[in-house]
Amino acid sequence: MPAQTLTRRAYLHFGEMTFTGRKNIVLRSVSMEEKVYVQDKNGKTLDPTNPARARKLLNKGRAKVVQRKPFTIKIVDRKKENSYTKDVTLGIDAGYKNIGFSAINEDKELISGVLKLRDGISKKLEQRANYRRNRRHRNTRYRQPRFDNRKREEGWLAPSIKHKMNSHIKLVKKLKEILPITKVIVEVAQFDQQKMQNPEIEGVEYQQGTLQGYNVRNYLLEKFDRQCVYCGKEDIPLEVEHIIPKNKGGSDRVDNLTISCHDCNQEKDNQTAEEFGHPKVQEQAKETLKSTAFMNIVRWKIVNKLDCNYTFGHITKKNRIEQDLEKSHINDAFIVAKGKNQKRCIPIKAKVYRRNNRSLQTNRKTYGRSIRKQKYPLSPGDLVKYKGEICEVKGMFNYGKWVRMKDSDGNKLNSNVKDVKLVKYREGLSFVS
Ligand SMILES: [Zn+2]
Repeated sequence: MPAQTLTRRAYLHFGEMTFTGRKNIVLRSVSMEEKVYVQDKNGKTLDPTNPARARKLLNKGRAKVVQRKPFTIKIVDRKKENSYTKDVTLGIDAGYKNIGFSAINEDKELISGVLKLRDGISKKLEQRANYRRNRRHRNTRYRQPRFDNRKREEGWLAPSIKHKMNSHIKLVKKLKEILPITKVIVEVAQFDQQKMQNPEIEGVEYQQGTLQGYNVRNYLLEKFDRQCVYCGKEDIPLEVEHIIPKNKGGSDRVDNLTISCHDCNQEKDNQTAEEFGHPKVQEQAKETLKSTAFMNIVRWKIVNKLDCNYTFGHITKKNRIEQDLEKSHINDAFIVAKGKNQKRCIPIKAKVYRRNNRSLQTNRKTYGRSIRKQKYPLSPGDLVKYKGEICEVKGMFNYGKWVRMKDSDGNKLNSNVKDVKLVKYREGLSFVS
C-alpha cells in the first residue's frame, strides 16, 4: 500500500475501525502481510506462516484446518519440541468500548486488530428485571417479597464492567491459542493514574506546562469527544476553557473545565456556559469520564489475572508520535508491545456477541407480543454445511424450521433446517475477518 491521503470515509472503509479526528490522514507507506497461524500435532503454537506455504502443506496432506477465522492450521507431523519459535510480545490497548491488540516478534507483526465489546448490558438487565417484576405481580401477587435478601460477594463487579474485564482476559487466552506469546503488556490507563486518581473528585487543578496539565488537557479532550462543546466543530485546535470564568469565582478544578475552539472561547468571554446558552455543559462536566472510571476499577484486576507487564497511555502517545504513526487502537497496541520497524500485518476485526437468541417477538400478526420460549437450533453467525459448501447462518424463520444463510460468495440461500449440518457454533468472542 503506497503512502496516500485518504478521506475520512475512505479511511474508515479501509478496515481501520477508529477515526482519529483529522479529515485527511496520511498513512505511512506500509506493505501489510497476511498470516496463517500454525499449531503442532498436539495443538501447541508455532510461528505463523504465509498463505502460499500453508496451501502447500494442506495440499500435501501434512496439515489440517483448525479454524477459519483467523485461519489456523495444524501440522500433523511436527512437534513443538523439534522446532524453533521466536519470542512474541503481545500489546493490549485496554479500553471501555474497544480493545486494540498487536503481537510482534523481533522482525514482524504477527497479528493485529480491534475487539469490539458489548454495550447496553445494564439496560438489558433492567428490562429483564421489569419483565420479571410484572410477571411476578401477575402470577404470584401475594408471595412475600424476596428481593432484599441477597448479599454481594467480595470483589463483586457490575455485570457490564465484569463483561469488559473478562473480555480482556479471554482475548489474551484466545491469542495464546494461535501464537507462541511469551510476554504480555497491557496499557492499563489512558492517564497517569498515580498523578490523577480521580480528577473530578480529588479536585486536580489545571496547570499549563506541567505534566499534570498535559494530562488534564488530554483527559478533557477524551471526555468531550475532541470537539468544541459550544459549536461542535472537530478537527481544529481546541483550548481548555473555564465553564464559570475565574473572575466570577470559577475554579481551576477539572469539573469547571471544558474544551472549546478559539472563536467560541473568545465569544463567550466573561460569561458562564449557561449565560452563553449552553446550560447542559455544566452537568456534563460534573460527570466522570466513564472509561476512566472503568479503568480505575479493573486495571489492577486485569494485570493480576493476566500476570503481565503494564504501561500508561501517555508513554504510548509519546512513542507513537515519535514513530509518526496515526492514533488508532491497533497502532497504540503495536507501540505498547514495543513495536518499532516490524513489518505490519493486515488487521482483523473481532467482536463479542450475546450468547442467546431469546427475543421478544413484537411482530406476530393478530397476537400480542410474547417471549419465544424455545431456543432455535441455529443462531446468526453459526457455520453450517449446505450442499457441500460452508455457509454462515443469518437467521431462522418459519418457527425455527427453515434457515437463512449466506455462502462464501455472499449469495443468500434458504433451506429446510434438516438439509444443513452444523459445523461450528459462533462463539461469544468471535473473529469477524
Ligand atoms: Zn466552537
